[in-house]
Amino acid sequence: MTDVGHDGVDTAAIIAAEDAYQVATYAKLPLALVRGEGCHVWDATGKRYLDLYGGHCVALVGHCHPQLVSAITSQAGKLMFYSNVVYSDVRALAAQRLAALAPAGLGHVFFCNSGTEANETALKMARKHTQRRWVVSMNEGFHGRTLGSLGPTGPESFRDPSYPVPVEHRRVPFGDLPALEEVMGEDVAAVIVEPVLSMGGISVADDAWYQGLRAACDKVGALLIFDEVQTGFGRTGSNFFGEQVGVTPDLITGAKGLAGGFPAGVVFVADALAAAIVPGDHGSTFGGGPLACAAMAAVAELIVEEDLPGKAAQRGKELSHALSLLPGVTSVSGRGLLLGVNLDRPAKPVVTALRERGVLVGGSRLPQQLRLLPPLTLSAAEAALFVDALSRVLAETCSGETREAAS
Ligand code: PLP
Repeated sequence: MTDVGHDGVDTAAIIAAEDAYQVATYAKLPLALVRGEGCHVWDATGKRYLDLYGGHCVALVGHCHPQLVSAITSQAGKLMFYSNVVYSDVRALAAQRLAALAPAGLGHVFFCNSGTEANETALKMARKHTQRRWVVSMNEGFHGRTLGSLGPTGPESFRDPSYPVPVEHRRVPFGDLPALEEVMGEDVAAVIVEPVLSMGGISVADDAWYQGLRAACDKVGALLIFDEVQTGFGRTGSNFFGEQVGVTPDLITGAKGLAGGFPAGVVFVADALAAAIVPGDHGSTFGGGPLACAAMAAVAELIVEEDLPGKAAQRGKELSHALSLLPGVTSVSGRGLLLGVNLDRPAKPVVTALRERGVLVGGSRLPQQLRLLPPLTLSAAEAALFVDALSRVLAETCSGETREAAS
């Protein structure tokens, strides 16, 4: 087999090597990406793509933002790793800058490496703090693929339904307050929710639902966990979603765009909870390592310097409006730059046709929904390019109605 560790290796050789050696857990696109800059990525043939998938919601500040690249490369030459057994200048900086982004009262962080680890950490902290076992989550929610996070992950397709998850769970429909209130009791440690459903089909609940969630938790002494792995760090138009509905959770989990592409996760912990946490309660060797912290500190600075939440709010509004006018689009859901484009036809052929035209978008569990999670640096011109590409693709592909009439 061709050694793929050299420039100029073709797409077929790269695909053959990954397929031969990587276990087959992912359904992959026939695409080998080699470079990124801003809202664009390039494949091994040199073809350029406008990236509205954002590397799966990760390229928050755009691909290879110069300040992020410089922070990581400079830290790599200074100290690549030392664990939490010692103090670190760059960890102190990351913690300080992230705490400044968090809602008032959530000024403590625990650093880890991924979204699922952040959620498991939050669940563990909630169970320890309340000394209760049960967790309430949403039927449509997604919180990660390791065992502890599969518990609150609703759709059974993500796990083997015959294998019990290790935490006791009650699940209710997203947005349904009476259903939630019915399962709340003094045995509930926490409610965990993605404030905007993403993988389960992009949707936002009424403001009153979030306020009801908070009240239902307070009534029985349960903690409220917002999984902001996708929604956090400005994507929905504010640093964290709760600000928009006047709700402060007890724990917020983050990952994905947090370090702009360097693997990192974080749990923001309410000060009252943090006060009761002692050495030995939890840990992670790589969590808060110097490279991840350099990346997190750079991203946190960019969120403020470039007003990324403001940009996401503004661009999201413009983009939703333009998309909602296209024939073939039935509605646009979501908030800021986490958008679901609901179509009158299956999304899959549209995703493929867009890719062939040099535009990357995602799908969700709703078969007629496109999912947009672009860098928050998306320009008005780039957004217009996408609207134009989608309108052409929709004009070329068949709507559900046309197909029904033809059959
Ligand atoms: N939570 C949400 C809302 C997610 O979308 C994801 C991943 O897509 C996760 C948790 C898990 O994150 P990770 O893949 O970093 O473990």
